[in-house]
Amino acid sequence: MFLTITTTGSGGMPATDLGFLLHKHPEKAQVFSTSYGDAHVFYPVASEQRCTAALLLEVDPVALVRRGKAKGRGGAPDSALGQYVNDRPYAASSLLAVALRTVFASALRGVCDARPERAAQPLPLRIEIPAVPARGGAALVRRLFEPLGWTVEAEPVALDEQFPAWGESRYVRLALEGEMRLSAALRHLYVLLPVLDDAKHYWVSPDEVDKLLRMGDGWLPAHPEQRLITSRYLARRWSLTRQAMERLELARLAEADDSEAEEIDNAVDEEVDTEEKPLPLAVQRREAILAELRDAGANRVLDLGCGQGQLVGALLKDVRFTEVLGVDVSSRALGEAARRLRLDRMGERQSSRVRLVQGSLTYTDARLKGYDAAVLSEVVEHLDLPRLPALEYAVFGSARPATVLVTTPNVEYNVRWETLPAGHVRHADHRFEWTREEFRSWAEQVAGRHGYGVRFVPVGPDDPEVGPPTQMAVFTMTAGSTTTAKEVTPA
Ligand code: SAH
Repeated sequence: MFLTITTTGSGGMPATDLGFLLHKHPEKAQVFSTSYGDAHVFYPVASEQRCTAALLLEVDPVALVRRGKAKGRGGAPDSALGQYVNDRPYAASSLLAVALRTVFASALRGVCDARPERAAQPLPLRIEIPAVPARGGAALVRRLFEPLGWTVEAEPVALDEQFPAWGESRYVRLALEGEMRLSAALRHLYVLLPVLDDAKHYWVSPDEVDKLLRMGDGWLPAHPEQRLITSRYLARRWSLTRQAMERLELARLAEADDSEAEEIDNAVDEEVDTEEKPLPLAVQRREAILAELRDAGANRVLDLGCGQGQLVGALLKDVRFTEVLGVDVSSRALGEAARRLRLDRMGERQSSRVRLVQGSLTYTDARLKGYDAAVLSEVVEHLDLPRLPALEYAVFGSARPATVLVTTPNVEYNVRWETLPAGHVRHADHRFEWTREEFRSWAEQVAGRHGYGVRFVPVGPDDPEVGPPTQMAVFTMTAGSTTTAKEVTPA
């Protein structure tokens, strides 16, 4: 897989400044390891007039098979050999997009401390990719790139030059030319290469919607092929596609007060290749919690039993969460949380949004009052059952946020964990694990006692027989029950 980016420089900028923008020195050849093989970056041409950066991804077919990603086309489908013999090493597919993001993360974000003014400025660019798998052919390639201001050369590659009668392959040789900010160009490629390939057959998680919107910021809301792009990018998962289309519509309406850089900023660097494999359950749980908190319109959030602060960290990344209080009984966990979050090195504005305090959830605590929402993520099962009513009172009777989210393992799902011996709980410190029925019955009683409604949300794959690995209850205070707190006493 091969891609080159060429610029001739402009406005007195030497072409070699491309090296600053890509954060890769033109005089060095560098290798980066990605999950699918080595990515090489080097400059075949580097003069003041003209500079070309090349990205070569040397796909390791064996690593692909191990990661269950080898179902490229052009090989023998569904055969053992097809896993190893396919087009992946040669064709610029979604793997190249991942390599772009791994190797050029800062450039994608448009960040360039050495030449900030250059990063903001359109450059004359030419991008060439010798083999792009394109479902929809050269015509679709044009429909995707031309509206973005590119001059497109897309030539179908013959199946075999010796035998023209065999016709065209599904690959095109692609060259794009235009005056474009480098970050915009990279984001076009990042989204559109996998769209053309249309073989993103791995698990697409809900946070792909966020990623698509970030990468599409500034161009996707107005793109005439927005629907096709969105649906293919999200591997035709209709509910995600609908969600993305709605948000794009909002983005289009909000275009006027669009502040581009900030949004893209947060996201690109971390969790570099989570998109290529099923997300760990803990991440799915966090995403599900964040989604519910956003839906509830919560701004001030309690993370009760915050542990090492992963959710606190995720909350801080979204500015809508103006205040986050993490509470845990374990000072060791809190110390680890402070270290991970780099509380001591946080800027003033950020640190004013977050506090970590030690406390036990089985005692009422005035510090927990006045929040919009509380999260108990994988906490209740750490308490002895007889202590649960005390927690119930402290949270639902005393603190009384409008929204409470409680997640806990669904013990029925344990038979699906291959590594878990029969009859074992998932964690040594779990005092109990509930079936869906047990959890539901507990939650409904709690809701009834304290003036909340409750609904249940599966987290992780919802198995038709045994349900999801994690179950979540979403409690919402019913109108008019804000004052019942004092009448309710601990059970
Ligand atoms: N919420 C985190 C951590 C879950 S582990 C996550 O989802 O990953 C459970 C956490 O609850 C531990 O950090 C433990 O110290 C804390 N915990 C257990 N009993 C508690 C109590 N009575 N009061 C406060 N925290 C408690």
